[in-house]
Amino acid sequence: MSLDAVLAKIDEALPDATARLLDLLRIPSISTDPAFKADCDRAADWLVDDLISLGFDASKRPTPGHPMVVAHYNPDGATGPHLLFYGHYDVQPVDPLNLWDRDPFDPQIEDTPAGRVIRGRGASDDKGQLMTFLEACRAWKAKHGTLPCRLTIFLEGEEESGSPSLIPFMEENADELRADVALICDTGLFESKTPAIVTMLRGLLGEELTIHGPSKDLHSGMYGGVARNPIRVLSRIIAGLHDENGRITVPGFYDGVPELSDEMRAQWQGLAFDHARFLGDVGLSVPAGEVDRTPLEMIWSRPTCEVNGIWGGYTGDGFKTVLPAEAHAKISFRLVGRQDPFAIRAAFRAYVQANLPADCTVEFKGHGNSPAGQMSVSHPAFEASRAALTDEWGVAAAYVGCGGSIPIAGYFKTYLDMDAMLIGFGKDDDQIHSPNEKYDLESFHKGIRSWARILDRLTKQAK
Ligand SMILES: [Zn+2]
Repeated sequence: MSLDAVLAKIDEALPDATARLLDLLRIPSISTDPAFKADCDRAADWLVDDLISLGFDASKRPTPGHPMVVAHYNPDGATGPHLLFYGHYDVQPVDPLNLWDRDPFDPQIEDTPAGRVIRGRGASDDKGQLMTFLEACRAWKAKHGTLPCRLTIFLEGEEESGSPSLIPFMEENADELRADVALICDTGLFESKTPAIVTMLRGLLGEELTIHGPSKDLHSGMYGGVARNPIRVLSRIIAGLHDENGRITVPGFYDGVPELSDEMRAQWQGLAFDHARFLGDVGLSVPAGEVDRTPLEMIWSRPTCEVNGIWGGYTGDGFKTVLPAEAHAKISFRLVGRQDPFAIRAAFRAYVQANLPADCTVEFKGHGNSPAGQMSVSHPAFEASRAALTDEWGVAAAYVGCGGSIPIAGYFKTYLDMDAMLIGFGKDDDQIHSPNEKYDLESFHKGIRSWARILDRLTKQAK
């Protein structure tokens, strides 16, 4: 049976697939609000039933929070890869409700100037996206009578509320969940048009520091000039964190930062990223990072050090000639490659200590830390999936980075020793987490077709 037959089945069954998605979207599975606990449970049940109808051995698994949905398809004599698919069935709260043009849980297909969209909470994040995979499985089953390979489906109901049960569940069920590669559908197309596989995710380290000088606040008429001012000390330390070329000066900071491969650099150049528009949208015009890096490199593959807050002395109305006893700042680092958050924390603290003048002391408070995620694109599933996406969208698919953090991808690596492929079909204007969330019908339709092509490539590759 050919892939074409599966794709034709997907086209023909799109109205049914859309109706099923609308059904799932009607369940208000807001994970953060205890008032919707029963609805989260209902969404999990809905998915278990749907997975059973596809031939999976599916069950709802309790956690201290909302249940996980775990499903297996492992027929006797299955060949090919063992794939795990991850998505989440919980959604963000809907307030402010008055900014919605319709009831967020009465979803509808709407015609817009940009095309048909599915409107409702969760349409894009993540119910629409996760259903692209299940619909691809359904069409495959309809044509072949079986699913393409050994599959594990792992759906979470707490992603929008910090995933408190996720790591313990992964640890307790590691043997059951481990597969060859994880597929995660919770990301988007690059600039709403280029299919993309996210292979780099920046990590994060947060530090807060307080510099102490005099034993109490002083009067600047009495002590100004002779007493050490902690705000000046802090400012000088912060100013020294970058050199004139935009590089971070903390010793050892760039240890573990990989250089971009020529292949990846060429792919990113091919994306023709419009950085003028990107910066123009926020009232800026000139990239401010390392002088010898492109804007995409700065966002995706280079580490940062940013000051997120700074305070001290008198900042109220009027004026007070105070010479403060202390000064504070919050500083965060975005990390890439194999940068070690603990080593950087230690190096940063040593840098600050080394730059403290006489009579000053410093106190540190560490905030979160997570290493960067770097997928090994040498795993053959990556190239096969990229080719499949290129076939479907008619645009060369790209490996991209993600400036923010998507912790789930790192968890698969850390707790299950699996690489994860983040492939999603959301668009920049989907308004996820905001009023009037939507998912383009095109994203849904071509998303389903994309997974069918990926499954086809991955199973053929294994033969
Ligand atoms: Zn999501």
